[in-house]
Amino acid sequence: MEICNNEKCKKEFYVSEIGGGVPGGKERESVICPYCDSVVRTEMTSAVFVTRKVEDVK
Ligand SMILES: [Zn+2]
Repeated sequence: MEICNNEKCKKEFYVSEIGGGVPGGKERESVICPYCDSVVRTEMTSAVFVTRKVEDVK
């Protein structure tokens, strides 16, 4: 679980890392809040972040 760092949002959402394992394929990927579309954080990873709203998972 991640929590949005946008003061006006502050919602919790799920983050999944998809793929990865590609040699030399690391890039700066963004975790983007599915509620307000703001970038919560970025990470160097070869995977791709997929975010989902809590109500979409239940
Ligand atoms: Zn948000």
